[in-house]
Amino acid sequence: MADIHTYNFSGKRALIRVDFNVPLDKETLAVADDTRIRAAAPTILHILKQGGSVVLMSHLGRPKEGPEEKYSLRHIVAHTSKVLGVEVKFGGDCIGAEAYDMSAALQAGEVLMLENVRFYKQETVGTESFAEALSKHGDVYVNDAFGTAHRAHASTTVVANYFPNDKMFGYLIEGEIKAVDKVLNSTDKPLTAIVGGAKVSSKISIIERLLDKVDNLIVGGGMAYTFVKAMGGNVGNSLVEDDYLETARTIMTQAKAKGVNLYIPTDTIIADAFDNNANRKEVKIGEIPAGWMGLDTGAETSKACREIILNSKLILWNGPMGVFEMENFQQGTVDVANAIVDATAKGAFSLIGGGDSVAAINKFKLADKVSYVSTGGGAMLEYLEGIELPGIKAIRG
Ligand code: AMP
Repeated sequence: MADIHTYNFSGKRALIRVDFNVPLDKETLAVADDTRIRAAAPTILHILKQGGSVVLMSHLGRPKEGPEEKYSLRHIVAHTSKVLGVEVKFGGDCIGAEAYDMSAALQAGEVLMLENVRFYKQETVGTESFAEALSKHGDVYVNDAFGTAHRAHASTTVVANYFPNDKMFGYLIEGEIKAVDKVLNSTDKPLTAIVGGAKVSSKISIIERLLDKVDNLIVGGGMAYTFVKAMGGNVGNSLVEDDYLETARTIMTQAKAKGVNLYIPTDTIIADAFDNNANRKEVKIGEIPAGWMGLDTGAETSKACREIILNSKLILWNGPMGVFEMENFQQGTVDVANAIVDATAKGAFSLIGGGDSVAAINKFKLADKVSYVSTGGGAMLEYLEGIELPGIKAIRG
């Protein structure tokens, strides 16, 4: 594999897989949130500055049967030009004579955007002939789409085979990989993971892997009630996965055997309905009355978590402590976010990875006060689980 830092792009056409799957305004089809476009800009601008030209390919939405106007990348061309400060041309299609003519005519410093690769079903199937057709747009392949790195699609994985010596990660993917590797492979201690969110079942692989790595494991969110029930507590109507009670017991036994400090919340904010305006009370977590459900963690839990987090050198946070989308049940998640911010200010490295904890840290406007916020979603979860992502493997070879 090549290295974006040292590769000479002068006179080269770089085919970059970006993740421009951005939300569009339903009425005007204008870009509603350009975070992903801005995130890819450093890679694109680096190549242009070096005297290369750029061909961008991406998917947008989930078109079912061929082209659909609402999923056309045409809608984001103008906005991308604005973000880059460079005029972006549009290829009309992602393969075919017209698109090839346009990419072949690119001069140094120019940018072409291809049409949505998912307008061809061969993209998600990962068809070799389609990947080969895409490969004709570039002399060098750069993958900067971490969000789709866990998919073995034509443009994210298979296409790399056509650039045996000229394939590399962009800055965005490189940053994601470095951040996770830093948390999971560094010798700095203590390492604390906070794993929250709705269900034990969706986090079990991560928890099992983390038990071999972490010093402290804080369990939060809906998941915690399965642990509490497994310990014989009363959880009322809280979210519980009865099929996972045994799994929860095994995790507790394993944590003890491995010397991991497993922290389960001790108090909770309960509600008499799954509603922001429901009646609320703070109780011990194993003493939830019938008809009530735990929707957030309590003050004692926040205090204990804060102490653990402030004493940590490495912090990984995945999943909220409660139903943070509802204002009356967001405090536990706010408290954890603030503790992570304060630990970071004291010198800890903090990674917010995967789904809803990223949404939470953005909601609380604290994203710039932690070390790294992943854009990866599902890809980040799989990487944390230790799964070798096809898009990453295809580059590393
Ligand atoms: P996940 O995608 O697994 O990280 O789950 C995130 C979701 O879990 C969020 O939408 C939260 O609202 C939800 N959640 C967190 N705590 C609870 C809880 N105590 N009861 C029900 N849902 C919860």
